[in-house]
Amino acid sequence: MMNNFLISIIVPCYNEAENIFLLISKIEKTLAEYKYEIVLVNDGSTDNTAQIIALVSQKNKNIKYIYFSRNFGHQAAIKAGIDYAKGDCLVTMDADLQHPPETILKMISLWKKGFEVITATRKKNAKISFLKKWFSKSFYWFLSTLSDQEVIVNAADFRLFDKKIATFIRNMPETHLYLRGLFSWIGFKQTTVDYNQEKRIHGSTKYSYKKMISLASNGITSSSIKPLRIALSIGIVFAILAFAYGIYAIVIMFLGLTVSGWTSIIATILFLSGIQLMVLGVMGEYIGKIYIENKQRPHYLISQTNIKIENKTKERI
Ligand code: UDP
Ligand code: MG
Repeated sequence: MMNNFLISIIVPCYNEAENIFLLISKIEKTLAEYKYEIVLVNDGSTDNTAQIIALVSQKNKNIKYIYFSRNFGHQAAIKAGIDYAKGDCLVTMDADLQHPPETILKMISLWKKGFEVITATRKKNAKISFLKKWFSKSFYWFLSTLSDQEVIVNAADFRLFDKKIATFIRNMPETHLYLRGLFSWIGFKQTTVDYNQEKRIHGSTKYSYKKMISLASNGITSSSIKPLRIALSIGIVFAILAFAYGIYAIVIMFLGLTVSGWTSIIATILFLSGIQLMVLGVMGEYIGKIYIENKQRPHYLISQTNIKIENKTKERI
């Protein structure tokens, strides 16, 4: 029996040439009973991802593609997929088969039960490298301490959501996208489903440590201004200490006791200027964000696509 709704599967691809055939055939098998479209977003790959996408999209008319003019990043690629997908429910997943297509079926049945966002979470025994596990653990700790939002632990960008939610996300103008934060911010009826994460079959992770740190910094600064408040509190504490020390210095001056040595002065100056630089750095991070947001540049530029742009709003994106 055919199900009468359209599912959009959005897959960001950055140098995933070796994975695409297998991924597509798995999705085709899993969703044989459903109406679906697969939106492959080629995020400026430098291998032959583009050619492979062209091949698979000729064979299967349900495969849509979007090519970016350069590498705009994972989050921007997902945003593009959401902007152009036409489904009644949308699924975002990785191209590397670490997100098993079978989990989509579980998500669909939860969506049919009325949940509007279903986030997949990695089971504990996921096969990821120690360093990455440690990084992700401390990142979640940091994020939940520093931001005001609830963070779903062990969740990547593998989720299903209703088209209503997609409309909201399409209309979010912010340039510094951090979808995990955004999904926890929007609310609605949400739930989770767990999955076994396997090792990457082909290729290596496309998240360099530089990209991970940038995502982490975005995660914190785009969902919270707590670091600014912490910087302010540190400033206040040290201002009080400095004031007290000033009084002490005046008192001993009147008592005729000379302040001995410059070591303490140098140490204090170094310490305080360190703190000042740190606080300035935190402020700079936010000012930089304001600067970039203010330019109102699009999230990405498309060089090629087989999706018809239907309405004005989409043209603007
Ligand atoms: N990706 C992307 N642009 C990038 C980096 C990654 O589109 O700049 C895609 C990548 O092809 C994959 C997904 O984002 O489909 C997640 O990346 P990856 O699997 O390398 O991350 P990990 O699972 O190691 O965190
Ligand atoms: Mg992966």
